Amino acid sequence: MGLWFTEKQTDNFGITMKIKKTLHTEQTDFQKLDMVETAEWGNMLLLDDMVMTSVKDEFVYHEMVAHIPLFTHPNPKEVLVVGGGDGGVIREILKHPSVEKATLVDIDGKVIEYSKKYLPEIAGKLEDPRVEVTVGDGFMHIAESDNQYDCIMVDSTEPVGPAVNLFTKGFYAGIAKALKEDGLFVAQSDNPWFKGDLIQSVQKDVKEIFPITRLYTANIPTYPSGMWAFTIGSKKYDPLEVKEERFHPIETKYYTKELHKAAFVLPKFVQDLL
Ligand code: SAM
Repeated sequence: MGLWFTEKQTDNFGITMKIKKTLHTEQTDFQKLDMVETAEWGNMLLLDDMVMTSVKDEFVYHEMVAHIPLFTHPNPKEVLVVGGGDGGVIREILKHPSVEKATLVDIDGKVIEYSKKYLPEIAGKLEDPRVEVTVGDGFMHIAESDNQYDCIMVDSTEPVGPAVNLFTKGFYAGIAKALKEDGLFVAQSDNPWFKGDLIQSVQKDVKEIFPITRLYTANIPTYPSGMWAFTIGSKKYDPLEVKEERFHPIETKYYTKELHKAAFVLPKFVQDLL
C-alpha cells in the first residue's frame, strides 16, 4: 500500500498523495519542514503539513506570481520577494532582462537550505549575481523600506504562524511605502472555494490603498481546491492595459500573453466575492 500523506484543506476535505521517500523533516524555529519525494508530483516541500511547492506543478504558481506584475510594469529594475524561500519566483524574475536586482527575504533559512538541496530545479537561481538573499521577517523588511522597489511579490505561507502579519492592512500600507511612486505588488491570496472571506478582506484592504486593485486566478492542482487567487495592487499601471509590444519573449510552461489578460476573467461566484 505504501505511505500516503494527506493535507487537510478544510476540516472535512483534503488531498492525499503517495509518498515514495521522506528526504528531510525537522521542526525549524518557525514551522514544521518536510521535504518528501511523491510518486505523482516529484519532490515536494511541505510546511506545517501544507503543500508549498512540487517539482511537477510549481511552474504555474511561480510564473503567475512573477510575470503578471513584471510585464505590467514598463521597466522593472528593482524587485523584492517576501517569502519565496524555495526560489521559484526568483527564477522567473530573472527571465526579465530589465531587472537589475532581485531581493528575497524569507524568515526561515532552513527553507532556503533544503530547497537548494532537494529542489534544484526550483531553487537553482538563488545564487545568481542579480539576487540578494536575506533571512529575516518580511514584515520588518517592508517597514524599513522606502520608495525602493518597482515590484514586490508576496510569496508567503498561509496567514498562520510567521505569515500572520503579511495579510494585514498595515502590511499593505508598508508595501505602498516600500514601492516607488509607480510601483505595484502581487500577493498570493489563497483560494475562493475555502477562503472567500480572506480574499474579500485582502481585496478591501488593498483597494483602500492602491488605485488599481485586481484579482486573478490560476489552476494549481496541489493547492487547496486547485483554483488559486492572486491580488495585484498598483499605483499607476493596470495589468489589463499592457501594450502588445511590451511582451518580450520568455520561456514559460503556463504563462502566455493571452493568459495575462484571461487570468483576470473570473467565474461568477468569485466576482461576487469582490
Ligand atoms: N507558494 C507557497 C504558497 O502559496 O503557500 C509559498 C511558498 S514559500 C516556501 C512560503 C515562505 O514564506 C516560507 O518559506 C516561509 O518561511 C515564508 N514566510 C512566512 N512568514 C514570513 C515572514 N513573516 N517573512 C518572510 N518570510 C515568511
